[in-house]
Amino acid sequence: MIITRIPPSPTGKLHIGTARTALFNYLFAKKNGGKMVFRSEDTDKARSTKESEAEIMSGLQWLGITWDNEGEIVRQSERAPIYREYLEKIIANGGAYVSREESKNTPGEMVEVVRLKNPNKVLTFNDLIRGDITFDTTELGDIVIARNLDDALYHFTVVVDDYLMGVTHVIRGEDHISNTPRQILIQEALGIERPIYAHLPLILAPDRSKMSKRHGAVSIESYRELGYTKDAILNYLALLGWNPGTDQELFTLAELVEKFEVTQIQKSGAVFDIKKFNWFNKEYLRRMSAEEFMTYLDLSTAEGLPKYFDITSDSFTRLLPTIQERISIRQEAIDEIKAGEYDFVFVSPTEYTTDMLKWKNDPDASAALPRLEKAAELLKTADFSTPDTIKAALWGYAEEVGKGELFSPLRIALSGKAQSPDPFTIAYIVGLEETLRRIATACDKIKG
Ligand code: GLU
Repeated sequence: MIITRIPPSPTGKLHIGTARTALFNYLFAKKNGGKMVFRSEDTDKARSTKESEAEIMSGLQWLGITWDNEGEIVRQSERAPIYREYLEKIIANGGAYVSREESKNTPGEMVEVVRLKNPNKVLTFNDLIRGDITFDTTELGDIVIARNLDDALYHFTVVVDDYLMGVTHVIRGEDHISNTPRQILIQEALGIERPIYAHLPLILAPDRSKMSKRHGAVSIESYRELGYTKDAILNYLALLGWNPGTDQELFTLAELVEKFEVTQIQKSGAVFDIKKFNWFNKEYLRRMSAEEFMTYLDLSTAEGLPKYFDITSDSFTRLLPTIQERISIRQEAIDEIKAGEYDFVFVSPTEYTTDMLKWKNDPDASAALPRLEKAAELLKTADFSTPDTIKAALWGYAEEVGKGELFSPLRIALSGKAQSPDPFTIAYIVGLEETLRRIATACDKIKG
């Protein structure tokens, strides 16, 4: 059976690179009826924390990337006796030796480290994405594989754990390519079968440098907080270095499992394009029902909204589709509300100038007056159930007098702003009574 693995080092939040590696391992395993195992590589005592481990695990689970370990999770920090057993074995069979030498950290102090006996040979391994990769191991020297028998180092623990966990395929970032020959030498010295390797392209910032914090958010959690949905994140991650070979862009996790092919993974770096990511999120938001979108937006937990912004009102419910149509992420909605973009919903506009009500050859807005009065009359009997029914009530008259001539002053009368949604949407949101009140205010302004 195919067994892949995700072995994060718990030294921070769940990084997008780790999440993408986990996703590809998951997809490859599921596609082939196999399993993926999880392992916490917490041997760096100074930097590893339990909080980070918990965060990485819950982040992956939130995305729906699950693993198939049986029993307790595997933590390298708890496996020193196992590594010791294998260190003794590799020393006994002559693959490694104990070397007494001066400590690198404390000069003058003598320490005993375990070094691998490098056979100094040319080694080739096959990579599913990159083909044959050849290294001359001579340049590596006799690598240190343990500080002492109870303190095995990274390359050794990875080899032993992958072996004991039955890992058949090692799918990991390109930054691990240079580790692979070292790990193969250890496998060979232990007489362990070599797994199959696939090294994923790096995730790059738009300037093609390695993606890092200075390019913006790099943790899944920060994207989640900004309002990226798990569907959009999964979908976008899948396309960071992989493509289906068709035009299809939107995939559910189940579809990804079905379509995923390792051979479709690219060798060159995958550029992280926030605009494309936003596009994905927008697509998923637009597909939500009104109720789902309301739950997603969850404005009751948003801080700093203006006092007048009443999220329990009917007008807010009627505003929701407009927000849903416009935004890519939740944070945008919050920022727009704070910036007053939707204050017309709750506050009758009075501060605009008569000048704004003019349309083309109408020096003092006097031509707008009869049009607004007629619009008010038509609206009194209009069907207010959707913006379209409101539009229908005004359409015939607009064709008579000109669309700009009618809708421009009407939109200003209703919003008081140079930029706003169309007048039908605003009328629908604020309701008949308030619509008529706003038109009357505009008429009074023109009359002076
Ligand atoms: N613990 C390593 C990391 O988080 C992964 C090692 C591996 O995949 O072999 O980068």
